[in-house]
Amino acid sequence: MTASTAARELLTGMTGREPEGIWSAPGRVNLIGEHTDYNEGFVLPFAIPHRTYAAVALRDDDRIRVASTFADEPVEVPLNELDELFPTAPDASPAVPEWSAYVLGIAWALRARQPDAPTPGVDIAIASDVPVGAGLSSSAAIEGAVASALNELWGLGLDPVALAQVGRRAENEAVGAPTGIMDQMASMLGRPDAATFLDCRTLETRSIPTGFTAAGLEVLVIDTQVSHAHSTGGYRERRESCERGAALLGIRSLRDASISDLPRAAEAMDEVTFRRVRHIVTENQRVLDTVAALTEQGPRAIGELLVASHASMRDDFEISAPELDVAVDTALAHGAIGARMTGGGFGGAAIALVAHDVVDRVTDAVTQAFADAGFTAPHIFAVSPSAGPHRDA
Ligand code: ADP
Ligand code: MG
Repeated sequence: MTASTAARELLTGMTGREPEGIWSAPGRVNLIGEHTDYNEGFVLPFAIPHRTYAAVALRDDDRIRVASTFADEPVEVPLNELDELFPTAPDASPAVPEWSAYVLGIAWALRARQPDAPTPGVDIAIASDVPVGAGLSSSAAIEGAVASALNELWGLGLDPVALAQVGRRAENEAVGAPTGIMDQMASMLGRPDAATFLDCRTLETRSIPTGFTAAGLEVLVIDTQVSHAHSTGGYRERRESCERGAALLGIRSLRDASISDLPRAAEAMDEVTFRRVRHIVTENQRVLDTVAALTEQGPRAIGELLVASHASMRDDFEISAPELDVAVDTALAHGAIGARMTGGGFGGAAIALVAHDVVDRVTDAVTQAFADAGFTAPHIFAVSPSAGPHRDA
């Protein structure tokens, strides 16, 4: 059964009625630009074919009820009590089951944004084929699907960037996850065969054709299925190093440093902080270089930038993991044009840019290398840059 059908059936089972419509939004993968978002730098993600579906029916009262194939039972609250549930206190868990806070948080953030709009009650059923917690942003997908549905059913007329901001607000303030806006922008602005360049300071975006499809290329996602225990602490430490580095350079954020500042940075700080800074500064440049290479030379020209990005994360930022290094090295040894870990690090997924005719060879080689190393078997699948949210039915 497709996820779209699963959402419809969950809704009809819950309400005995057909949905008004089914809306969906994609997950995303980051092609390049890692840990640059909170340094006000550049990222280049794209939306993937995997999507989350929200089947929605209007109610004749003022309540919101949400269900997911993911959860045992629906959660139902009066819409006008959302303001009592959210925002969730800092460092606390939401007062509702966490998964439902993604959905209820969207309703809350939309109503807060347009307090005068009439917002009739709704039943919402969610189903998804975006892997959860694999770094593919199932969270942005669920936010985007629900935000798109309610935007239309409530007649709010918000544009995709506004809906991305609503998604971020729900995730930050309702769920309580302190994330940037990259994931929501990548999902909301997805286009077939294009990546989204995002300037995380100005929120300027540009759609960058990747040319992957025309060149016969695919991006393999190699989900290592591991998440190392130090990931939360590691993330916080990296953020602090970046802030310290910027302070020592006398700049607002590392966005304001360039490669020519690195010799000065080496003098101004300890060796570890310097390497953290060097990753961010060079990674920002690699994002710009990737955009230029895609635009001027085509997708085969970005391989070396992907490889350099991985080396920088492994050696300077120190957020790789043995599984990610094996995935990248093996993919490259068996014909990938480029490969790198993607996402926050310490586990999660790597990506490899490969021609159609080596997909099987790379997949088999990585699977074998994981077995030889005694790692958990990876989950490997191909994605290509895909469309943003739309109404499916
Ligand atoms: P990811 O990298 O997949 O975005 P997150 O931790 O940011 O990981 O978001 C995953 C969370 O989003 C899940 O734990 C769940 O609470 C919520 N979520 C994602 N997809 C669904 C779904 N289909 N149904 C219910 N909740 C979902
Ligand atoms: Mg997420």
